[in-house]
Amino acid sequence: MTKNDNMKQSIKDFDYDELCSVIADFGEKEYRVKQIFVWLYEKNVEDFDEMTNISKELRNKFNEKYIMSPLSFEDRQISTIDGTEKFLFKTFDNHFIESVLIKNQGDKSDRLTICVSSQIGCPMGCRFCETAKIGFKRNLSAGEILDQVCQVRRMSGLINNNVVFMGMGEPFLNYDNVLKAADIMNYTFSFHLSVRKITISTCGILPAIERFIDEKRPYNLALSLNDTDSNKRIVNMPVEKKYPFKNIAAVLKDRLPVSRNRLTVEYIMRKDNISSEDVNRLKKMFNYSKVKLNLIPLNNGNHDLIIPEKHEMDSFIKKLEEMNIPVSIRKSMGSDISGACGQLSGKRYRLKNSMGGNVNAIH
Ligand code: SAH
Repeated sequence: MTKNDNMKQSIKDFDYDELCSVIADFGEKEYRVKQIFVWLYEKNVEDFDEMTNISKELRNKFNEKYIMSPLSFEDRQISTIDGTEKFLFKTFDNHFIESVLIKNQGDKSDRLTICVSSQIGCPMGCRFCETAKIGFKRNLSAGEILDQVCQVRRMSGLINNNVVFMGMGEPFLNYDNVLKAADIMNYTFSFHLSVRKITISTCGILPAIERFIDEKRPYNLALSLNDTDSNKRIVNMPVEKKYPFKNIAAVLKDRLPVSRNRLTVEYIMRKDNISSEDVNRLKKMFNYSKVKLNLIPLNNGNHDLIIPEKHEMDSFIKKLEEMNIPVSIRKSMGSDISGACGQLSGKRYRLKNSMGGNVNAIH
């Protein structure tokens, strides 16, 4: 059942305090709240009636007033190259969002990441990103964000130990719901994901970055930089016009980390942004005792930017290392199912052949 059926709200939209008032309205004691969170997230049940230590009467009240799962599952694709899985969900108002399950990313073989979407579409208009092409529809609720993790866990049978807000949308334009979802993921009586295992990525919404710092939010922050020349960045990432990266870098230099935060700067390697000048500008931009540079080779998409040759990327990486800039290289995962960075479009694809080489959008 979805919200559309009778406009019921999802119980997954509530954080601890909100669920306390729901429970109080039902005339129940507060200790129930933790029990319900355990059922919803740790045990990841699909139905209120599975909550066996909750009275039938209370389950009926929940059933009358709330739904559990706000998303309906539409499609699942598995990469034949690296086992990355992409999930397509439909929202109650008939929009589509995607989530990606990434296995063994990086050099830590035990890492299992779910990449969640935070908006339906995206208003930022980045030139290299497929999500930008569909425009912006609306923000996702906290429940719609959390339910992506619940459903991916249930369908894959795997328990992720990492979450990145790097799917469709700009998380910092949906600050309240994104942070609420992150907090709920962190509860000991929910997914119990450590704050170090939750990363929120932004293209650089400066007021939200400042708010994140002011509120001493403990999650990892990733900044999608992608250019070192402001004029070029304006063309590739229009957000640069309103919030120039120079101002963001200044704030980050002075004020992060506030607590346990780690800051990563994301940098897509294109043919035209990996020169020695780029290396020099990157060196000046951040204090690298606090910042790590995460390099992503440009992925294919409906853009006119050029993917560099391997030797060009290697030479860029070497120059960065010579400058003592800590770098990590993000392997492109799930490219055969359009599940890699910047490839999420929320379209349903039909595989043309069993190798997953050719995929055609069918709506
Ligand atoms: N809006 C947020 C969250 C999306 S994260 C943000 O911009 O950070 C998506 C990541 O994929 C971003 O770091 C973005 O720069 C990167 N990306 C987008 N298109 C890409 C492409 N074609 N190739 C490689 N990375 C891409």
